[in-house]
Amino acid sequence: MVQSFYESVLENIDNTAKRMKLDAGAHRIIKQPERELTVSIPIETDSGEIKVFTGYRVQHSSVRGPCKGGIRYHPAANLDEVKALATLMSLKCAVTNVPYGGAKGAIKCDPTHLSKKEIQRLTRRYAAMILPIIGPRADIPAPDVNTNPETMGWIMDAVSMYKGATVLDIVTGKPLELGGSLGRNEATGRGVMLNTLEILRKHNMDPKNATIAIQGFGNVGSIAADLLMQKGCKIVAVSDYSTGLYCKDGLDIPDIIANISSKDGNRLLNTYPKKPNYDLITNKQLLELDVDVLIPAALENQIHKDNADNIHAKIIVEGANGPVTKNANEVLTEKDICVVPGILANSGGVIVSYFEWVQGIQSFFWDIDEVNANLEKIILKSFDEIWRLSKKERITMREAAFCLAIKRISRAIELRGIFP
Ligand code: NAD
Repeated sequence: MVQSFYESVLENIDNTAKRMKLDAGAHRIIKQPERELTVSIPIETDSGEIKVFTGYRVQHSSVRGPCKGGIRYHPAANLDEVKALATLMSLKCAVTNVPYGGAKGAIKCDPTHLSKKEIQRLTRRYAAMILPIIGPRADIPAPDVNTNPETMGWIMDAVSMYKGATVLDIVTGKPLELGGSLGRNEATGRGVMLNTLEILRKHNMDPKNATIAIQGFGNVGSIAADLLMQKGCKIVAVSDYSTGLYCKDGLDIPDIIANISSKDGNRLLNTYPKKPNYDLITNKQLLELDVDVLIPAALENQIHKDNADNIHAKIIVEGANGPVTKNANEVLTEKDICVVPGILANSGGVIVSYFEWVQGIQSFFWDIDEVNANLEKIILKSFDEIWRLSKKERITMREAAFCLAIKRISRAIELRGIFP
C-alpha cells in the first residue's frame, strides 16, 4: 500500500527531530496543527438543486507569523491531505525565512463537473464559512491546484462585502487589477527554474545540454517548462491528467501552451494538434524516462515504493508538494538520485505572495524586475544554506531543509514560550 502523504510528512519530521535532538516539547507542538476547521458548503446548482460540499482550512503554525497557504479544489481532497500540506507550508516559510506560518485549505469537489457560476458560488460560500479564522494578520489564502487569480478575486470580494470595505491583503495570488503582484502567477514556476539551474550547476551539468521531463502542465509545470526552455534546456516530455507528449529533440513549449484549448477553463494536453515527431506517452512512462532532471509538478505521492526503482532521472526537482513518499525517498537516496525538496523547489509562490501582501499593506506596487530580483535573492540564499548544510552533515537536501526549517520554528517556540 502507498504510504499516506501525511504519514510521510510526519515521519520526515520524526527523523529530523531525532537527528537534531529536538526538544521533546517542541517536537510534539510541531507535529500537531494549531487549528483544523471542517465546513459544509451548500450551493444552489444551475438547475436549482441544492448540493452540499465539504471544505477544510487547517492552520498548522502561527509561531513565526500569520498562517499562509493555498486553497485547492479536488475530488480527492481530505482533512489528512490538508494537514500534510499545511505542515509543509510552515516548513517552507521557515526554510526560506519568510515571516509566515503554514496553512492550507481545500474543497472536496470536481471542478470539471461544475459551471463557472457554480464554482463562484462555492468559492464565496467557502470564504464565508472560513471567515472566522482567516484575516490579513491571521491567515492569508492563495491559489493551489484548480484555483487561480480569479478564484482569489472572488474570495477578496466576499470578505470585503462582509467587512464593508475593500480588504486587499486577505488573499494573495489576486488578479493584477485587484491588488495582485506582478510576477506572482509565474513565481512558483520561476522558483522551480532557478532551483533546477542551481542544482545542475552543482552537478557540473550544462543547462544547454540538460534533458528534462515535467509531470503536470498547470500553473507550476507549464511555466517551469517555458522558463527552462528559455534557458536552453531541452524539455523532452510533459504530461497532465489527460495524456503526455514526448520528443527526444525537445518539445516546443510556447507552441504547446498557445495551442492547447480550454474546456471549462481546463487547458489539457490531449487537445494539442497531432505532430509527426511527437509521441503520446503515459504518466508512468514520463516518470520513468532516462533524463537528467525529472520535475513532478502535479500532485503528491507520484513516486512511491512501487515505482521508485524504475526512476532513471539523475536529479528530481519537486515542483509539486509531496510528490515523493518517504519510502520512495529512501530508494532514491540509495540510487544516488539527488532530490531538491518541494519546501525549497516550489517556494517561489509563497515568496512572491509575501511580496504581494507587503505591497498590499503599503498600497505601493513594485515593478517586475524588483519582484524577480528579490525572488531570486531569497531562493538562491535558501538553496545555498541547504546545500552547504547537506554537504557539511553528509545528509540529503531534504534532510537539510527539514533541519533548517524545524530549527527556526523550534527557536520561535522557545522565544515565545507557552501561553498562558
Ligand atoms: P494546477 O491545477 O494549475 O495544475 C495541476 C496539473 O497537474 C494539471 O496539469 C493537471 O492536469 C495535472 N494533474 C493532475 N492530476 C494528475 C495526474 N494524476 N497525473 C498527471 N498530471 C496530473 O496546479 P498547480 O498550481 O500547478 O499545482 C501543482 C502542484 O504544485 C501541487 O502539488 C501544488 O500544491 C504545488 N504548488 C503550487 C503552487 C502555486 O503557486 N500554484 C505553489 C507551490 C506548490
